[in-house]
Amino acid sequence: MTSNHELFQRAQPLMPGGVNSPVRAFNSVGGEPFFTQRAEGAYLWDVEGKRYIDYVGSWGPMIAGHNHPNVREAVERAVRDGLSFGTPCAAEVTMAETIRAMVPSMEMLRMVNSGTEATMSAIRLARGATGRGKIVKFEGCYHGHGDSFLVKAGSGALTFGVPTSPGVPKASADLTLTLPYNDLDAAKALFAEHGAEIAGLIIEPVAGNMNCVPPETGYLEGLRELCTQHGAVLIFDEVMTGFRVAAGGAQARYGVTPDLSTFGKVIGGGMPVGAYGGKRELMQQIAPTGPIYQAGTLSGNPVAMAAGLAMLELVREPDFHRALEDRGAMLVNGMQQLADKHGISFSTHLVGGMFGLFFGPGPVTRFEQVTACDIEAFKRFFHGMLERGVYLAPSAFEAGFMSSAHSHADIEQTLAAADEAMAELAA
Ligand code: PLP
Repeated sequence: MTSNHELFQRAQPLMPGGVNSPVRAFNSVGGEPFFTQRAEGAYLWDVEGKRYIDYVGSWGPMIAGHNHPNVREAVERAVRDGLSFGTPCAAEVTMAETIRAMVPSMEMLRMVNSGTEATMSAIRLARGATGRGKIVKFEGCYHGHGDSFLVKAGSGALTFGVPTSPGVPKASADLTLTLPYNDLDAAKALFAEHGAEIAGLIIEPVAGNMNCVPPETGYLEGLRELCTQHGAVLIFDEVMTGFRVAAGGAQARYGVTPDLSTFGKVIGGGMPVGAYGGKRELMQQIAPTGPIYQAGTLSGNPVAMAAGLAMLELVREPDFHRALEDRGAMLVNGMQQLADKHGISFSTHLVGGMFGLFFGPGPVTRFEQVTACDIEAFKRFFHGMLERGVYLAPSAFEAGFMSSAHSHADIEQTLAAADEAMAELAA
């Protein structure tokens, strides 16, 4: 039998860090990653046959659990007709109709192949449409690895201490202005100074790449107002929140309408998919109707569309998100009680199907509070949980994801593991 260790040994000389995406390497928590053999429902099994209750969900797509039969069967049916056509196909039209029905601000949209592509395309559109150069983003927010976004970024970039990456030209980084999340006065001051140069503002409406930090009341509304006042394009990056915090995403949950939105993860059902879209007058400026160029050989791929459509059908079920949030509440409330019992400074956030666990006092609303949490305690807790067959994201700066496949028994088992892991921490 192949072991995790053996695979990691083989992988390291071949791929940077032995992985194809940095956080998977476990650098920030120490130790070696496991290699997944198979996934079903709430579980992953590694190549050694060990089972994990999984709260990462392939970093988001598996909101209905791994290998859901509806999604798998939709893919199997699609595959029979061919893998890629390079011409339009019916599923793309159905996908656009479905997204627009669920997220009405998506008057027109374009499918792409990843969240990164979606955000890069959205800011090109914002720049092209306004004729301005500057982009505003938030410290600790992650929008993929486009040059403009690797400035004070979250997620893996933050985890590895390189929030601003070498290789991003200074000229490009200079065009990215950064703001502290949940600080409306700072945003007002920035717009007062630079408003006329700002093409667009991009934000995770619930920050999910600096752990999970919801927007304070009135914050998104305030940003909406500022963008409208200054003629800047408001972009909600809903790659993580989309179809997760509500069927209509964060914009539905908080009642704030952006000009453009970006999506990923859930809409691919596990296949590599992203989308961007929004106001018709903006989207019509994209080629071939307009002059702003963006394209993709595999965009709107029929197999990916089939997977995504099957997934969206599942998340459109009435009560899907309420049930997800109930499960999340059982998990985070249970964790809080255990932390209190063990005398550990701890707090949580929960928004729909995403949650945050902080080894520090709450409520956490600012980036500095996230980075001030006890990262060493998180690492020990992560490994304590992993040993007991529970897989949390291997970084203190990632949100956790609940799926509809997590049963009460899974959550009880998770809490039993947490009780032991926290007892070790407190000892
Ligand atoms: N935007 C957000 C909010 C994300 O969380 C991510 C990835 O985690 C991205 C964009 C980039 O998506 P991808 O990894 O598919 O390029």
